[in-house]
Amino acid sequence: TFLSHSLQAKMSRPVQARRLERIDKNIWVEFVKLAATYSKVNLGQGFPDFPAPGFLTEALTRALSGGNHMLHQYTRAFGHPPLVKVLAQFFEKLLGRDLDPMTNVMVAVGAYQALFCCFQALVDEGDEVIIIEPFFDCYEPMVKMAGGTPVFVPLRPNPPKDGKLMSSADWQLDPAELASKFSEQTKAIVLNSPNNPLGKVFSREELGLIAELCVKHDVLCISDEVYEWLVYDGKQHIRIASLQGMWDRTVIIGSAGKTFSATGWKVGWAVGPDRLMQHLRTVHQNSVYHCATIAQEAVAQGFQRELMLYGKPESYFVQLPKELQQKRDWLVQSLDDVGMKPIIPEGTYFLVADISQFKSDVPDVPNSDEPYDYRFTKWMVKNKGLAAIPLSAFYSKAHKNNYTNFIRFCFAKEDATLKAANDILQKWKQEKTS
Ligand code: PMP
Repeated sequence: TFLSHSLQAKMSRPVQARRLERIDKNIWVEFVKLAATYSKVNLGQGFPDFPAPGFLTEALTRALSGGNHMLHQYTRAFGHPPLVKVLAQFFEKLLGRDLDPMTNVMVAVGAYQALFCCFQALVDEGDEVIIIEPFFDCYEPMVKMAGGTPVFVPLRPNPPKDGKLMSSADWQLDPAELASKFSEQTKAIVLNSPNNPLGKVFSREELGLIAELCVKHDVLCISDEVYEWLVYDGKQHIRIASLQGMWDRTVIIGSAGKTFSATGWKVGWAVGPDRLMQHLRTVHQNSVYHCATIAQEAVAQGFQRELMLYGKPESYFVQLPKELQQKRDWLVQSLDDVGMKPIIPEGTYFLVADISQFKSDVPDVPNSDEPYDYRFTKWMVKNKGLAAIPLSAFYSKAHKNNYTNFIRFCFAKEDATLKAANDILQKWKQEKTS
């Protein structure tokens, strides 16, 4: 009893640091669990259910059982030398400039940790960071943990023309509204193109506008490009760092998980000028210090292959988007057919659909302040076995309530999975009409 008394006394003050206030909720914890418990078909969280390419898994096998036992030990802190070297070569090609693998490239535990390093390294107490909505949800808590203030600016949907389906390109920034968000306090803007969750691929004009404002107000750009290879319909992914005045103020974030369909490996990177990268390295060396050597070795080999096959039909970066475009089209058709109006994504492996015609399917919960899209996705996974993610999870608290009629699906799935989703939707449609 003496022990429990003293424990209790110690617990009477808050144990958590102030920086954790109001960031303790995380949509993924809840929805991943719901999907694991109820889903027959999981189109929720963003990961492929098809295998990673053979050349990548073979590279891992070779690294594991080959002669170099040092691959089981620590490697260079900021990135395994073969990986930073090949990333530098690759990005030299993409950006048209010389890069130093040791100072312009840093490897992290997924793009997630690369992002965390950016915010910790570049954002101070009192700094404002502009975030374009809808956004990959971790940006907001990461800015707050660094002591910064997120400032949100929404992509605004323009109604589609003559009854056609909407495209992610119909969601646009209002230039005056965007400009109004830049101030003396603005330290950085987060850009995510191709965008999760909409699949929007920002045009040269849109990027030009953002770049102009960054230069005018001396603002940094954290450019999350993890879906850089997943662009459809002949569209082109443009790197904002290649626009005038932007290299010096941009950190590019990438992910082997997304690039090589191996999200569980958690290998990501940041590419940028040393004047920014040196501070990312300080965060890195004082937090994670080092990422799994063997995964870095295999990813390096994957990139060496892709460098050799660059632009050729055998390249995975050419093949994967082709396959995914087909899958996108199937899911678009499945959803359109049942009246869950899809917004056709130009990139990524996500697709947002309009569920406003399904309100009568979902029982009203009296006095609930849970938004419709949350109630809908929970109801759908429990009653139909189909998992998705509510779109309002990708909005700030202030703007959430304007976007509760949409849900996000992931279509990086085996054809059989997409067919099973279609079967669920078709059955549902029949039940509704009978
Ligand atoms: N950025 C975006 C936009 C993402 O969608 C994701 C993963 N869902 C990440 C970063 C994190 O990538 P990683 O798995 O490499 O940490």
